[in-house]
Amino acid sequence: MNEHDSEKVAGVLLRRGYRQVASPDEARLVFYNTCSIREKAAQKVFSRLGEFNPRNNFGRESGKVIGVLGCVAQQEGEEIFERAPWVSLVCGSASYRELPLLLARLEAGENRVTGLDTDTDETFETELTRRDHPFRAYLTIIEGCDKACSYCVVPYTRGPERSRASESILREVRELADVGYTELQLLGQTVNSYRDPSNRHLSFSELLLGVAEVPGIRRVRFMTSHPHDMGKDIVDAIDASPALCDHIHLPVQSGSTRVLRAMQRTYAREEYLEKIGMIRGARKPISITTDFIVGFPGESEVEFEETLSLLDAAQFDGAFSFQYSPRPHTPAALMADPVPEREKQRRLQALQERQRAIQLQRHQSLMGQTFEALVDGASRREGQWTGRTSSNRVLNFTSSRTDLLGKYVRVRVTGAGPNSLTGEESIE
Ligand code: SAM
Ligand code: SF4
Repeated sequence: MNEHDSEKVAGVLLRRGYRQVASPDEARLVFYNTCSIREKAAQKVFSRLGEFNPRNNFGRESGKVIGVLGCVAQQEGEEIFERAPWVSLVCGSASYRELPLLLARLEAGENRVTGLDTDTDETFETELTRRDHPFRAYLTIIEGCDKACSYCVVPYTRGPERSRASESILREVRELADVGYTELQLLGQTVNSYRDPSNRHLSFSELLLGVAEVPGIRRVRFMTSHPHDMGKDIVDAIDASPALCDHIHLPVQSGSTRVLRAMQRTYAREEYLEKIGMIRGARKPISITTDFIVGFPGESEVEFEETLSLLDAAQFDGAFSFQYSPRPHTPAALMADPVPEREKQRRLQALQERQRAIQLQRHQSLMGQTFEALVDGASRREGQWTGRTSSNRVLNFTSSRTDLLGKYVRVRVTGAGPNSLTGEESIE
């Protein structure tokens, strides 16, 4: 989502007459987009901002304007001016609509401008978006978050949930199809909580079907789905429409109901597994990926074992896993009984090892099958390509054809590793 925010902000700048240059050294204006989901990402910001200081020929004296965007901007606010006085703009994502105004103030000579209001019911729509990915276009359909997971900084930094009107989304989808995009990814922190604010009142699954019907669109992805709002209608839509990709990213975070309650995730282990059962019951095989946090305050060894047993029960096709990181302004940051760093590391490693074995086994079961891959990379070795299946698996394959980038190719799987498949183009 941050990457796509940058694409939209770049569009705002281009519209205002700015021109992209190759490096910060050449730029008169440098915007730095930031993430504060875990402490490490947030820490990086200040060391990076140090590189933009006047001693390195940055800052106002050199005629350069430095701006900080994103969740660290929102979280630290004007404190950023104290720690890096050469910064001129601090703006969180909920205020990006104000960027043209803030830029105008900077251009008029103001030294310090901020956009830090999160109390909004508006979404950030741009006339122009500079898209960086040649074959996949991202579209944010819902901003902010109204859930209140006790470890998470997002509701604080991105503000309340607000959905974009379905007409506006469908208009952008038609424009993207017109310029040749065939694959789209709809984005939201809780994408499936989408509620159309216009009088068409489309549900999320109706919106998915509407997007999938736009001529020229062959693949529609969406992430991230919250288990609480994962209804059967979404699975039915995937079953009904060939353009809806057979992949759902459904973060579980923990396999222990006690920990899930402490995390305020609004579902229990069994309820989550019921959702998995519902998805596995679809006519199309749908791949399921997830996120985990290990070492949440008070997570016991037995509770961590429950997370490992959930891995076995759910048979995920992929997982992102993180050590718990206390974040400012979150209830979990005040919780007692922190898990020691070394223990968090051990749990993370144990989880990742178990998941790798599961992925390997699941991938091996696909040997001999044929999938359609959208080719998004070429290897330096001639005849070697890489693409993604509808289920979002990486598929490295050989073909004697040239110019395959951006094309859809049928590939027969001949090898399997934990993180990717290998194969050869299938000429039927
Ligand atoms: N909205 C999505 C959701 O509900 O899963 C994604 C939120 S976040 C950008 C992506 C992942 O980061 C989360 O699923 C969670 O696993 C992880 N995460 C969030 N806060 C964290 C924290 N304080 N420490 C460690 N991991 C965290
Ligand atoms: Fe954070 Fe939870 Fe919202 Fe996801 S659903 S962004 S984890 S508060």
